[in-house]
Amino acid sequence: MPELPEVETVRRGLSPAMEGGVIARAQINRPDLRWPFPENMAGRLTGQKVLGLRRRSKYILIDLASGESLLIHLGMSGRMLVSGDPLGQFVHDHPAPEKHDHVVIDMENGARVTFNDPRRFGAMDLMPTKTAEDHPLLNKLGPEPLGNQFNADHLIAALKSRTMPVKSALLDQRIVAGLGNIYVCEVLFRAGISPKRRVSKISAPRIATLVPIIRDVLQEAIDAGGSSLRDFRQADGELGYFQHRFDVYDREGDPCRTPDCTGHIARVVQSGRSSFYCPSCQR
Ligand SMILES: [Zn+2]
Repeated sequence: MPELPEVETVRRGLSPAMEGGVIARAQINRPDLRWPFPENMAGRLTGQKVLGLRRRSKYILIDLASGESLLIHLGMSGRMLVSGDPLGQFVHDHPAPEKHDHVVIDMENGARVTFNDPRRFGAMDLMPTKTAEDHPLLNKLGPEPLGNQFNADHLIAALKSRTMPVKSALLDQRIVAGLGNIYVCEVLFRAGISPKRRVSKISAPRIATLVPIIRDVLQEAIDAGGSSLRDFRQADGELGYFQHRFDVYDREGDPCRTPDCTGHIARVVQSGRSSFYCPSCQR
């Protein structure tokens, strides 16, 4: 499932193909994904100049000259393919249409953006750019973890008087937007905090240390995604999924990588999701 760094990588991959360009044609191949597509979506996209691509949490926002923005959520299995336009050093031919190509956007510059989503948990919507933040998917989100509004004061205040495990708190999108299961596991490992530890039992200075760690973990993954954009693995034009080395995620039973730690990575299920951590060095 794509998390913030993967979505940011998709945004960066789409930008050169779309930004400043004009949408020549939009083909919508079914009435819905997770929800119905907005009314007359193809008509509202066609002929529009793309002013810019932004990301909010795990959503991509494509701002159009019409004053509307196209919101894209990749969901569980959504993939974006770029063809007909240079991606790094490669120029990809348009692929043969595949079964789950639900939306195909052709740019006047020859680039084609294809959204493929077998499980259809993804979503697209159109909204006025001015009021994009009021969209039901966006209006309850907390601050961006890489933005200025996310800082120690905010996190300490947001966690004050909470009793939930820290893992659940960091997954709460109202506290900080865009963190998912994988990167929360990695953050807590680096912080040396057990995912099971209750927020009320963590001192304010220790909570403050989470802020730079969250930024670092996400930024390193975004950087890895950036390298993948230039890498041969992207030779099929698919954006967003890249090889990344995780310290704890999906490493149950493997030795801990903390120097001098003899522990092994354990897995515990919290709120239906697996937490991976080292019981020796995460307290
Ligand atoms: Zn350890």
